[in-house]
Amino acid sequence: MVKKELASGEPCEKCAQAEAMLRRRGQWEHIDEVVWAVERDPSSPGARLAARYGVTLAPFFVVRGDDGEERIFTSALRLARECLPATAKPSRTPILPADAPETDLAALARRYAGAAPEEILRFGLERYGERCGIAFRGAEDVVLIDMATRTGLSFHVFTVDTGRFHEETYVVLEEVGRRYGVTVRTYLPDAEEVGNLVGRKGPNSFYRDGHEECCRIRRFDPLRRALHECAAWVTAKRRDAQHEPGFELPVLQQDPTFRGADGHLVRLNPLATWTRARVWEYIREHDVPYNALHDCGYPTIGCQPCTRPTGGAHGERAARWWWETSEIPGVLHESGDGV
Ligand code: SF4
Repeated sequence: MVKKELASGEPCEKCAQAEAMLRRRGQWEHIDEVVWAVERDPSSPGARLAARYGVTLAPFFVVRGDDGEERIFTSALRLARECLPATAKPSRTPILPADAPETDLAALARRYAGAAPEEILRFGLERYGERCGIAFRGAEDVVLIDMATRTGLSFHVFTVDTGRFHEETYVVLEEVGRRYGVTVRTYLPDAEEVGNLVGRKGPNSFYRDGHEECCRIRRFDPLRRALHECAAWVTAKRRDAQHEPGFELPVLQQDPTFRGADGHLVRLNPLATWTRARVWEYIREHDVPYNALHDCGYPTIGCQPCTRPTGGAHGERAARWWWETSEIPGVLHESGDGV
């Protein structure tokens, strides 16, 4: 493993995180040697290795196979998944075994109601593995990806790209892929439907006749396709971000709107009881990548034309579709669903 030492003498934080992740997974013992690349010292052993292999990122790993062939990894997670024996044990005992009967999701939800998000997530990942999808777009979603990665269990990440995102969203999307070693599956709207809508009404019809039609085409239909691949999905919904006071949001539920390939779909809402402040505490604590627009007063980030900065003064709901005065209940109005 090649780690970077900053000019200040401090170790690079990402390198420390990579080591911590490998230790948590019980795979650190398979790292034979740590070599340091000292910032601004091209003669340091790690810097020489970086030059030799043409690598500009830290940390990176050189893996030598039995046949002497060398492979370079710039993602610790990819190394862990592809090259190192999976010896990790769950760090915490789940409240229920992952193979507990699924006959009564409401009962499961009650059992998990007071559980930490990590435990709820672990339950979903142990049970559904790769068929459990984490929907990605916002800061809360990255918190969930960070937690999921720490379990060492399988899952997948997907996003619905409406075609109207801010550039900053694409930047963080790539950063998340790099940081966590995941490939984000991208679902796009149907090009013909978008063409028809734009041809008939122009690109910004939502300002005149409401966002439902555009959201159905650009968000809702691709999301339906994405979820058709899942047995369970993880949302970043929080009770405190929903419309109606006292809104009930179980931490586990049968999805009320969407169906998976086998006709059922479990929805996990591990952050249901968290507040926005707690989410940001986690982001700072764990150095989770987030969209730069949050630093510009955007409490939530959706499509560029339909999201605005409110500086936190009016909450998350006022930041989207603000020109629509009436509140119409429904899935398309919910925030924090990651799409
Ligand atoms: Fe269209 Fe706005 Fe909905 Fe995005 S949020 S799909 S731009 S109406």
